[in-house]
Amino acid sequence: MSLRRPMLFCTSALCLLTLAFHSPLSTQAQTSILGFTPSAAAHETEIENKFKAIPSPDEERRQHHIFTAEPHVAGSPRNNELARYIADQWRTEGLEDVVIRRYDVYGSNPKSTFLEMTAPVHYRAILRELPVPGDPDLKNKSISSAWSGMSASGEVTAPLVYAHSGNPEDYELLRKQGIDVKGKVVLVRYSNPYSYRGFKALTAQREGAAALLIYSDPAEDGFRKGQVVPKGPWGPEHHIQRGAITYDFMVPGDPLTPGWASVPGAKRIPVEQAVSIPKIMALPLSWHDAKPLLANMDGPIAPDDWQGGLPIKYHIGGNRVRVHVKIEMDNSTQPYYVVEGRVRGAQLPDEWIVLGNHRDAWVFGGVDPSSGTASLMEMTRALGKLAKAGTRPRRTLVFCSWDGEEVGLTGSTEWGEQFADELRQKAVAYINVDEATSGPNFHGQAVASLAPMLVETSHSLKDPSGKTLYEAWKESSARERREAKQSEEVTDSNLSDTRIGSGSDHTVFLNFVGIPVFGLGFEGSYGVYHSAYDDFFWMNHFGDPGYRYHTLMSQLWGVLALRLANADLLPFDFASYAANIRQFVNELSKGKDLSLLDLKPVLDAIDDFEAAGKRLDESAARALASGEIDPVLAKTINHGAMEVERNWLNPDGIPGRPWFKHILYGARYTYAHLELPGLTEAVEKQDWPTAKQQAEILRQALISNTKLVNDLNSSLALDRPTSGK
Ligand SMILES: [Zn+2]
Repeated sequence: MSLRRPMLFCTSALCLLTLAFHSPLSTQAQTSILGFTPSAAAHETEIENKFKAIPSPDEERRQHHIFTAEPHVAGSPRNNELARYIADQWRTEGLEDVVIRRYDVYGSNPKSTFLEMTAPVHYRAILRELPVPGDPDLKNKSISSAWSGMSASGEVTAPLVYAHSGNPEDYELLRKQGIDVKGKVVLVRYSNPYSYRGFKALTAQREGAAALLIYSDPAEDGFRKGQVVPKGPWGPEHHIQRGAITYDFMVPGDPLTPGWASVPGAKRIPVEQAVSIPKIMALPLSWHDAKPLLANMDGPIAPDDWQGGLPIKYHIGGNRVRVHVKIEMDNSTQPYYVVEGRVRGAQLPDEWIVLGNHRDAWVFGGVDPSSGTASLMEMTRALGKLAKAGTRPRRTLVFCSWDGEEVGLTGSTEWGEQFADELRQKAVAYINVDEATSGPNFHGQAVASLAPMLVETSHSLKDPSGKTLYEAWKESSARERREAKQSEEVTDSNLSDTRIGSGSDHTVFLNFVGIPVFGLGFEGSYGVYHSAYDDFFWMNHFGDPGYRYHTLMSQLWGVLALRLANADLLPFDFASYAANIRQFVNELSKGKDLSLLDLKPVLDAIDDFEAAGKRLDESAARALASGEIDPVLAKTINHGAMEVERNWLNPDGIPGRPWFKHILYGARYTYAHLELPGLTEAVEKQDWPTAKQQAEILRQALISNTKLVNDLNSSLALDRPTSGK
């Protein structure tokens, strides 16, 4: 799925890299790459140049056409066929250890969905997307009708209430108007502001509603934004945003195996105990189907900011319009398939860089996820070609094609749970690409310790505009910040977005296993998300007609992986991490009275961690500049550095959500990023005992990591007198 984020920017201020050696100037790219000795950097540049020359727009387009040829929802025969296709391709390309792993999960497929208005006039919703001229794929008979993944089954006839975005404050306003939604059907729109549809479902369920209808208002992704398909990138009258309503903000993956892998034969909990399965019926609607309902409503006129883009007055309703909803789901167990392949490392095969993209799509998946899948295939072809020619990375690259991401981040979660112990030993980082491209504007996310190396890497790639990716990234970020009226200037230290929420396959790696993650994507005007119109036609007319951004994504993804795979010392920057954490802590007190919570000890611990990080940066720079690092020592330093991220995990998890163990990064139920999740939620509830306890957990983790980084620094510094051997 990938989090919809209309305007979400990093506002972090990473500390500037302290050393000129670390300065990521493109002119120095030949001899200076974070984590490399000068000679290794020169060699790395050669390898990268060879690699970057391989991906081609024609191949990207050819692969994209294969993946978007048919609808391929999770668990469907076509999606499984594509799993076999990927495995075959990878074997041909020279990847090793190619396997298809099976997970038996709680299924959620529609048998039938039905909606009609029974009063004041009859209207039967078509729940279908009509073809448009020029796009033959839209006549495909296997395009599904409207449905929501993980909807409950049932049938109800009840009055209809309009509840704006379906967030708690919207129901508050309804209550003030004397309107109770208990037993009624609620109609909400997707965004304004954005919240994950599963959060809307949980909110409606808590309010006692009988069913939830979620429609796409043209103010958000349709004609109010610009030209619609087939003339422009925005959503046409009939587009339906499918999507799951799974409560995966509680626990992602198969709802019946929370915290362990749903391999065939695994223990399962009863459905009634599964906290991530919604108990409410839900159905997505096009504005074509929502309009007659809205137009017939009575009751008070909805507030100004509840008015949408349709040429009608929106009312709150509650009496006049009655609807009949009937949904039948098939919840039988079904297999999902994760494809896994590797390029084995020549020197450090037990250190892994993991790269992944989901394969399953709501329909054709033009952007989401097949743009990412095409980029994955071109990247693996190029890396396979290099390996066949004898150019192998030092560390192992592990590639994964996930299944069921759209349902509940399911494939990646099950895989991460299955291999959690091994990943904790071996994984350096996970690089996720969900939607590779819906336009030209780059968005790069990274945990703060790896944000500097992402910025540095962007210098070495060429954007289709002719500028470096770095320049293009900086310009589009500045433009977006101006449009969002954010005053913060774009700098190298805040270019990477270090605020990582949920909504894609990085979640298990970061929040459950404790592995640093990246998320990469090019974005643009995109109004057909999760609809049938998100297809090959759309990509070739609007998203990336020349497939140049697909190609750039393959290059960027691969170069990042190669740098992590080949570095002498892994390019973690803990001083930068400390500065980020300090900012998170300082934000806690913004506009709040924290007199009952003393954060000074935490801030002191952050200072110590930052100082340790700076010392390690300096020692690493000196060691690298000396031109040679003892491999045994390098291994010690690298494994220690990998431990830092693991140490941010609290085995008990954040309060109320034990699966989510990371104490720095989390997500709200809306999917929005949530920094210091346990501490922040306690402060927001003014639950001071819990806040104190969470602050202490953070302080202890900072102390452990400071000690760890100091120890690593001592090893590096101790080595210096003898390193000239
Ligand atoms: Zn996706």
